[in-house]
Amino acid sequence: MKFEDLNLHPTLLKAVADQNYTEPTAIQAQAIPLILKNNDVLGTAQTGTGKTAAFALPILHHLVKEKESQSKTKIRALVVTPTRELAIQIAENFTAYSKYNGIKNTVIFGGVKQMKQVKRLNDGVDVLIATPGRLLDLMGQGYISLKDVGYFVLDEADRMLDMGFIHDIKKLLEKLPKKRQSLFFSATMPNNILKLSNTILYNPKKVAVHQVSTTAETIQQSIYYTNKHDKKALLFHILKNKEIKQILVFSRTKHGADRIVRNLKKNNIQSAAIHGDKSQPQRQKALESFKNNTIRVLVATDIAARGIDIDKLTYVLNYDIPNEPETYVHRIGRCGRAGEQGLSISICEPEENVYARDIEKLIKQKITAIKNHPFPQTDNPMNAQQKKEFEKEKNRKRQEFFANRKKKRNAAGGNNNRNNRR
Ligand code: AMP
Repeated sequence: MKFEDLNLHPTLLKAVADQNYTEPTAIQAQAIPLILKNNDVLGTAQTGTGKTAAFALPILHHLVKEKESQSKTKIRALVVTPTRELAIQIAENFTAYSKYNGIKNTVIFGGVKQMKQVKRLNDGVDVLIATPGRLLDLMGQGYISLKDVGYFVLDEADRMLDMGFIHDIKKLLEKLPKKRQSLFFSATMPNNILKLSNTILYNPKKVAVHQVSTTAETIQQSIYYTNKHDKKALLFHILKNKEIKQILVFSRTKHGADRIVRNLKKNNIQSAAIHGDKSQPQRQKALESFKNNTIRVLVATDIAARGIDIDKLTYVLNYDIPNEPETYVHRIGRCGRAGEQGLSISICEPEENVYARDIEKLIKQKITAIKNHPFPQTDNPMNAQQKKEFEKEKNRKRQEFFANRKKKRNAAGGNNNRNNRR
C-alpha cells in the first residue's frame, strides 16, 4: 500500500514525503481509513509502530477540510498523553505534518512555568497536545475551553492508568463535547483499560499491531556473558568500537544509571542520564544533546525511556538483563524503528542467566552469544531454583528495610507533630 492510496489531503502527502516515509506502517494502513470515515477507534499499539501518524494524519485531514469553510482558530483536536516526552514528540509530529497547511498546534505539560504555554494558547491553536495535570490546571484557570473539540485522542491509556491519571481523565471527559470523534490507544488491553475505553468511545472499530515479536525479529541481538565485577570494563571494551556513534544504555535503577554516567565521564565519554529523579529541563536537555549528537551515550531507566523516540537509533545496550522478558523487548524496540537497522547488545552477569533464557523463550530465538571477549563469565551461574531463593531473600531484606524505615519515619513524624504544637 502507498500513502497515495489513503486519500489524504495533498498537503499531508507532501509533508509525509518530506519525512521520507515510503509506505504506511501496519497501524497506519489499518487506522487511517477508519478515522477518515469518522469512526471511533480502539487501537492496540505501542510507540514505535508509527501510531502517532496513524491518528495525526487523518485528524489533520479533517481539520484542513473544515478550515476551508471557517476561518477562526480554536482548539478542535485534543491529544492527551501521559508524559511530557511523549507530548513533545507528538507535537513535533503534528508540526511536521502541518508544514504545508497552516494547522497550528501547541503542547502543554507540567514541571515548567505556564507563562509561555498560556501565551501560545492565546495566540490560537487548532490542535492541543497535553498531559492531564497541566491541562486541567489551565482549564481551571480559564485559559482553555474544550467546547469546540471535535477530535479527542487518549494516548498510552494503560500507562495513563499506571501513573494514576484515572481521576484526571474522568474530570476531563465531563468537559468534552458529547459530539466528537474519539481515538483510544494503548499498548495493552487488560479489562480495566477496556472498561475505560467503553466510557469514551462510541461503537469503535478495533485495530491492533503487536510489536513484541516483530521488533525482536528485525533487530540483530547479541549478548556478552560476563561476571558482575567485569561489567564496567566490558562496557568500555564495547564502546571502543568506533562504529557505535551513539548508543542508548538501559539501567534497571536510577542510581545505576548515574553510576554508569559518572564512570563514562571519567573516561571522557560524553554521556547523560535520564530517569525519574531528573528534572524536566534536565531530561529534555539530555535528550536533545543525544538527538543532536553532542553526547554519545544516553543512559536511561525503563520508565524514563518508554516512549522516547530517537530517529535512526542503531544501538541499544542492556547494562543488566531485565527480569521481565517483555521489558527486554520494549528496550530493544527503541532501535531499528520503522525499518531502520537495529543492533542490541546485552551484558549478562551469572545471576541473570535465567532471565536471558526467559527472554529467548519469549522471542522464540537464541540471542547470539559473543565468544572470545576479554571478560568471559567464570563465576558460577545460578540455576532457576537458586535464583528463586536468592530473589526471595532479596525481597525479604527489602521489605525489612522498608518496614524499618517506616518505623523510623513514624517515630520522627510523632516528634515533628509535637514540635509543631509547640
Ligand atoms: P511512533 O510510533 O508514532 O512513535 O513512530 C515511530 C517512528 O516511526 C517515528 O520516528 C516516526 O517518524 C516514524 N514513522 C512513522 N510512520 C512512518 C512510516 N510510514 N514510514 C517510516 N517511518 C515512520
